[in-house]
Amino acid sequence: MGAPDIIKQHLIDPEICIRCNTCEDACPIDAITHDERNYVVRADVCNGCGACLGPCPTGAIDNWRTMLKSEAYPIETQLLWDELPASLPLPADVETGTAPDASLPETGQEPQTQQVEASRHTSPKAPWSAAHPYVNLHGVRAPVTATVAGNYRLTAEDASSDVHHLVLDFGQHFFPVLEGQAIGIVPPGTDAAGKPHYIRMYSIASPRDGERPGYNNLALTVKRVEQDHEGRPVRGVASNFLCDLARGDEVRVVGPFGSTFLMPNHREASVMMICTGTGSAPMRAMTERMRRNLAQFDGQRMLFFGARNARELPYFGPLMKLPPSLLDIHFAFSRDPGQPRRYVQDAIREAGARVAGLLNDPHGHVYICGLKGMEDGVLAAFGEVCAGAGLAWRELETTMKAEGRLHIETY
Ligand SMILES: Cc1cc2nc3c(=O)[nH]c(=O)nc-3n(C[C@H](O)[C@H](O)[C@H](O)COP(=O)(O)OP(=O)(O)OC[C@H]3O[C@@H](n4cnc5c(N)ncnc54)[C@H](O)[C@@H]3O)c2cc1C
Ligand code: SF4
Ligand code: SF4
Repeated sequence: MGAPDIIKQHLIDPEICIRCNTCEDACPIDAITHDERNYVVRADVCNGCGACLGPCPTGAIDNWRTMLKSEAYPIETQLLWDELPASLPLPADVETGTAPDASLPETGQEPQTQQVEASRHTSPKAPWSAAHPYVNLHGVRAPVTATVAGNYRLTAEDASSDVHHLVLDFGQHFFPVLEGQAIGIVPPGTDAAGKPHYIRMYSIASPRDGERPGYNNLALTVKRVEQDHEGRPVRGVASNFLCDLARGDEVRVVGPFGSTFLMPNHREASVMMICTGTGSAPMRAMTERMRRNLAQFDGQRMLFFGARNARELPYFGPLMKLPPSLLDIHFAFSRDPGQPRRYVQDAIREAGARVAGLLNDPHGHVYICGLKGMEDGVLAAFGEVCAGAGLAWRELETTMKAEGRLHIETY
């Protein structure tokens, strides 16, 4: 009689998972799915390639159970979990020496070493010169309490979007962050089913030494969600909670998260930042890091920033004050009265030669952040500017990803 089929079942920890969809996007074979409540992995589809491990900001994805294949948890069961089931011993008649598929990753393996399918766009690893990030210092079971030090509206009073600059003070809590990382906010209260609200992610908009240097604080750029993606009226749980906070209020925070969307630290590094709306948050953090330490960065700095018009663009005023020598800014306004519609990809095409040069520079790093819809247009524009410069974008994209030079975060 042959040995029973043993698998390492890949599971997602529902207590840590913040439902950000990153793993579902990263999985090349659609093994991950979700409902309103949980993200889950199909045991019969997952091949253990590990492509989802590095991009997951929380580590919730990195759980494996050695078990009989016939007893693998179906997704219908996983979707009902509030916590992971305990590991169970294999039946006594199963030879303990029977090894599971050696190609499957070990629990806790270093995520940055994993390969991402060539068809996926974001790099699975950080730039080689990035500082080492702290990740998951505070989990859902032990959030840290931060105090609101300031809350300011960034968009014009008559603008259709209400975007806030929120400063959180961490007092004497150890909460080190890097530019490009995000934190999780635990909204107070419970959802319609009486369960605690799940955690929402927000990119950090200030550099590692704080919104105010020397203070243990950080900034967020939060858009009040009042419509869902289909334009129906809603009241977003976390964004409204954050936008309505007053100075002195307390917020429960988890994280920090993110180990790949990090800025390079070496002198020759050039950066191209492409964003829409609150996707500007990590770009502000990186720009401010470079502004405060200009003598350490000799490379180019380009920003492509899309919005409906200047009144809807977070940080428009401060951006206009930056000298071109610090940042080469290209705005793209899609609803500017009297002007033709322009999107970030149009601005990228217009600056084609410089864009192609930076993409082809081994020290060039690209960051794309904003609404999901922007990614395809930007990558298509890269293809066009590369073709114009005699470069093969597909090959360049593969190289950039492998070198940790192409980073995409859309939500
Ligand atoms: C890595 C990462 C970084 C993020 N950084 C930021 C950031 O810097 N600033 C920021 O404001 N947000 C950011 N987000 C989005 C944020 O986590 C929340 O999803 C967003 O604030 C909505 O949460 P909510 O609780 O207000 O809405 P929910 O109560 O979760 O949703 C209410 C309804 O609105 C829809 N909806 C959710 N988000 C949006 C949206 N952005 N636009 C339109 N409809 C929406 C939902 O589908 C739902 O139907 C980030 C997300 C990720 C994954
Ligand atoms: S390990 Fe690979 S196949 Fe399995 S869920 Fe992650 S990305 Fe998909
Ligand atoms: S936190 Fe990790 S496991 Fe949960 S949805 Fe995001 S990437 Fe997937």
